[in-house]
Amino acid sequence: MTGKPDLPSNAPSHDLFDSDRFHDECGVFGIFGHDDAAAHTALGLHALQHRGQEAAGIVSYDTRQFHAERGLGHVGEHFSSPVVIARLPGHSAIGHNRYSTTGETILRNVQPLFAEFAFGGLAIAHNGNLTNSHTLRRRLVQQGCIFQSTLDTEVIIHLMATSRYHQVVDRLVDALRQVEGAYSLVAMCDGTLIGVRDPMGVRPLVIGEIDGATILASETCALDIIGAKFLRDVEPGELVTIDADGIHSIRPFAAAKSRFCVFEYVYFARPDSVVEGRSVYAARKRIGAELAIESPIDADVVIPVPDSGVPAAMGYAMQAGIPFELGIIRNHYVGRTFIEPGEQIRHLGVKLKHNANRALVAGKRVILVDDSIVRGTTSVKIVEMVRQAGATEVHMRIASPPTTNSCFYGVDTPDRDKLLAANHNLEEMRTFIGVDTLAYVSADGMYRAMGEERRDPDAPAFCDACFTGDYPIALVDHLGGDNVAQLSLLAERGR
Ligand code: AMP
Repeated sequence: MTGKPDLPSNAPSHDLFDSDRFHDECGVFGIFGHDDAAAHTALGLHALQHRGQEAAGIVSYDTRQFHAERGLGHVGEHFSSPVVIARLPGHSAIGHNRYSTTGETILRNVQPLFAEFAFGGLAIAHNGNLTNSHTLRRRLVQQGCIFQSTLDTEVIIHLMATSRYHQVVDRLVDALRQVEGAYSLVAMCDGTLIGVRDPMGVRPLVIGEIDGATILASETCALDIIGAKFLRDVEPGELVTIDADGIHSIRPFAAAKSRFCVFEYVYFARPDSVVEGRSVYAARKRIGAELAIESPIDADVVIPVPDSGVPAAMGYAMQAGIPFELGIIRNHYVGRTFIEPGEQIRHLGVKLKHNANRALVAGKRVILVDDSIVRGTTSVKIVEMVRQAGATEVHMRIASPPTTNSCFYGVDTPDRDKLLAANHNLEEMRTFIGVDTLAYVSADGMYRAMGEERRDPDAPAFCDACFTGDYPIALVDHLGGDNVAQLSLLAERGR
């Protein structure tokens, strides 16, 4: 996690643990009861590559012992070799893709984490971000715990180790009752695979089945890649254990209103995934249609910023009755711009990544559609490119509300002072990006695209903190207390 709002002067300092800040935009996968557990896990992680590209790890269990392999880089760089897969025997395995933008991505921070407890070994993989991990970690260090990594996930391990309970699930529940934040966890111990989502279900987690084996995965695209059948989502606040007797479910936390992350639909999840009963692709297309209804403009062609803007641009074009064209071509052999650290590289990355399709753009009034603007770097470059290719007018339409706040729940966003929309009004942004008109979909429009009537300010159906500053889970580390209202106020003031 990166983002930090302006802190009140009495906020605690976190220098101690900031050497490698926590960035957890991740994918998790687990399988129980399959001859090729590790190979299936590698394939599942490959399908979840978009959720994290910096490192990947797999831990398997062969009824006698655990085996672990971790590597920096893409899944395929480490796990496509049969030799590596052969070092991961057993019928159960879990895996993790890691994402980070700054700080070293060092091997000791690559999940799954593994620890030997009084009850035996446990491997754990986490998607999300804990918001009180610094606070808990400080207390645990004072109690004598020795941390091996700078991952927030490791506090769960120590809370389990120091729990007064004996059974693994009891210890895990005891630990999770003390943490705040967003988590979709996959864990594996002797004979059991465990999956759990935080009470608000901010991050996704699904259950699937193949050849009688049970699977847990961040998204359904990880089931599709191996031909597994989707069974159901793990529900918010649900903990499932999977063993030789099947799937067992408990609800160990106080009931909370579900607040799934709407940004998963906007950008993060893969368009071929079905998340919480909605197709990501269809949701993006509907946002584009809402955008066309809210902010129409006379133009000759609708062009997506590939790849993330494609479904929304299609939705916009269909609704507006304007031709859709692939007027910008993306080079797929360059990583996502956002992922390369450093301002200079980011600029270079955008140039390396996109090229205007001159024949489709020259002499045209163009509507460019992207899913979001973060720093504005991509938009500036793309607009310049389209103008150079001869567009007579360029109109920008954004398929999410302005990104005005950092995420503290597992999507890596820059600090607020780097978020374009947090520091500029619409007209300033329009001038900065260099477009003739600029419009974002409204929060109500985005909610309508999700099948809601509008955004209910008293009980929003999603976590939309990045767009509204309404943080549903206490940001304990950042405000030194359980004071969400205070942060929302700060966000409000800074807008
Ligand atoms: P920027 O150039 O900083 O304005 O980034 C905007 C681009 O980054 C858009 O094209 C988005 O598709 C993409 N994007 C938005 N949020 C993220 C994120 N959390 N991680 C990676 N890319 C993102």
